[in-house]
Amino acid sequence: MSASHAPPVQRLVTELAKLPGIGNRTAQRLAFHLLRAPAEDANALAEAIVEVKEKIGLCEVCFNLTDEARCRICQDPRRDHELVCVVEEPSDVIPMERTHEYHGVYHVLGGALSPIDGIDPEDLKIAELIARVRGQGANEAGPMREVVLATNPTTTGEATALHIADELRRVAPEVTVTRLASGLPVGSDLEYADEVTLGKAFAGRRAV
Ligand SMILES: [Zn+2]
Repeated sequence: MSASHAPPVQRLVTELAKLPGIGNRTAQRLAFHLLRAPAEDANALAEAIVEVKEKIGLCEVCFNLTDEARCRICQDPRRDHELVCVVEEPSDVIPMERTHEYHGVYHVLGGALSPIDGIDPEDLKIAELIARVRGQGANEAGPMREVVLATNPTTTGEATALHIADELRRVAPEVTVTRLASGLPVGSDLEYADEVTLGKAFAGRRAV
């Protein structure tokens, strides 16, 4: 890190370096790119960041990202509202949608169980999922038919899937609970899976 940057430049470098996958060198390169760019381009980027933080919130039903009270998927009557796919993060919805194999709705947990990091069941949207599955969610939908556990094939993702499967067996034994088939790269995130692999993992899902 150079101490020779003017403070505003250093501030930009520091903020850019907080982004995932951006080290200090890349942050400096991006900062200098922005300094060279026309003012309207740099302003457009700044405004896009402000707008997304102001306008985007979580869907009241599934906790996916939305600029309305309910996301477009939850509002879509053509989707199967008795089939729910449980994912860790909003970014995991995108690869599932890209498969074109899945026509149900989603439930975004907001992370995965990780006792070491202090992430317990009550820190995730698990109670909200159970309520939805039993037909007692924020929407007027009836009970669910099937819950597809599509948490990441990582230690924390597997632990989360097991926990939810246990809970559902206890409180909603009539619902089918499935897990994506193996074949996804172990230890990686759903968002990096290609749509063919993910589509196959969905088609080959098994009861748990
Ligand atoms: Zn939604």
